[in-house]
Amino acid sequence: MSSSTAASLSEFSNTNLEPLITGEQIQARISEMGASIARDYAGRNPLLIGVLKGAFVFLSDLVRATDLRVGLEFMAISSYGASTRSSGEVRIVKDLDVAVEGRDIIVVEDIVDTGLTLNYLLSNLESRGATSVALAALLNKQERRVKEVKIDYLGFTIPDAFVVGYGLDFAERYRNLPYIAVLKDPAQG
Ligand code: 5GP
Repeated sequence: MSSSTAASLSEFSNTNLEPLITGEQIQARISEMGASIARDYAGRNPLLIGVLKGAFVFLSDLVRATDLRVGLEFMAISSYGASTRSSGEVRIVKDLDVAVEGRDIIVVEDIVDTGLTLNYLLSNLESRGATSVALAALLNKQERRVKEVKIDYLGFTIPDAFVVGYGLDFAERYRNLPYIAVLKDPAQG
C-alpha cells in the first residue's frame, strides 16, 4: 500500500478535521480539574454521573485524575443524532440505577451548547433530593447559550463550531479521536 493511500485511510488525520485542542492540552487541563474536585470534595463521597455517550472518554480520564472515593453512574439523554443542530427536545433515554437522595452529585458532560440538556438534567437531579448538584464539562460553547447553566468545573471555552473527538461524535464517527477537532464539512461525514 502506498503511503498516500495509507494516509487517506487514517481516521485521526482525516483532512475533514481541523485540530482545535491537542490530547496533551486536554490531559493537562483534566489533571487540574481532578485536583480541584478532590480539594472541593475532600472527606466526601461524590457520585459522578456521566452523560452518555459523549462524556465517556472525559469521565474515564477525570476519575483517574480525582484522588477521592467516588461513585460512578451513567445517564443517557436524547440529543442531536446525525444532525448538527440542537432539536431542543430533552428526554431521559437511560436513567440512573441508584437513588441520589442525600448524595453529592457531579454531572460529567462533554459539551454545553444551548444549555437545554443540562438545564433540564441538573434541575431534575435537584428535584430528586440530591444534597448538591455540580457540573463538570470539558467544553463550553458560550455563544450558543439559550438556557443559563452554571459550570462548576470547565475544561475549555470554544468558538461556535461543530467539534468531534475525545468522545464527541458525528453520526457515531470520531468518538475515538485522541484530540478535539472542528468538523470542517459535515456533508462529508
Ligand atoms: P445542548 O443541550 O447544550 O444544546 O447540547 C448538549 C449536547 O449536544 C452535547 O452533550 C452533545 O451531545 C451535543 N453537542 C453540542 N455541540 C456539539 C458539538 O459541537 N459536537 C458534537 N459532537 N456534539 C455536540
